[in-house]
Amino acid sequence: MSNQRVLIVEDEVKIARVLQLELEHEGYEVSKATDGLEALAAYRTGAWDLILLDVMLPGMSGIDLLRRIRADDLHTPIILLTAKDEVKDKVSGLDLGANDYITKPFQIEELLARIRAALRLRSARSPLSNEQEWLAVGNLKLNEKTREVLRETDRIELTPREFDLLVYLMKHQRQVLTREQIVEAVWGFDYFGDTNVVDVYVRYLRKKSIKATSQR
Ligand code: CA
Repeated sequence: MSNQRVLIVEDEVKIARVLQLELEHEGYEVSKATDGLEALAAYRTGAWDLILLDVMLPGMSGIDLLRRIRADDLHTPIILLTAKDEVKDKVSGLDLGANDYITKPFQIEELLARIRAALRLRSARSPLSNEQEWLAVGNLKLNEKTREVLRETDRIELTPREFDLLVYLMKHQRQVLTREQIVEAVWGFDYFGDTNVVDVYVRYLRKKSIKATSQR
């Protein structure tokens, strides 16, 4: 099993550094973002098991970022890092779907315990959710629900048709498929065009550095 990936969103360089060292020491894979916009980009292009989110951030506040993330992702555990006097933010953060918060300055042991608890809760709620939601071939992963395609942590942008084709191919690994089968499954029964369209789209996928493993 690969390491769990944590995104640290924290503009105070020292705190972010300490968090990174401690989490890496615990075996987590860590990335950092230092403002709200950078964090949103990192969130969208990576696959995270947990997000540590500072509330007071330049660019976009942690609360706004939380709102953006929760608009279409209810599952990734998010722990807010707040200052003592940010009571209002704690409350609205929890209302907006943060899983927990911890007040700065905090003891690292307490934060680590809360991280473990949030990760446990998630895997208890949705057993094998990662394995079920993601199709994987080698280092290529695909999520049918969110329509994300990742190589390692790099996102690959596909058109809807390319995506559907890749889903079909990944679900039929090691099977010999005729062009007709593929066209029927991906383009539908009412497709009247040339079945060479399959070759064309497989080329598109290859161009995007995706190897369609079931193609002969
Ligand atoms: Ca801050």
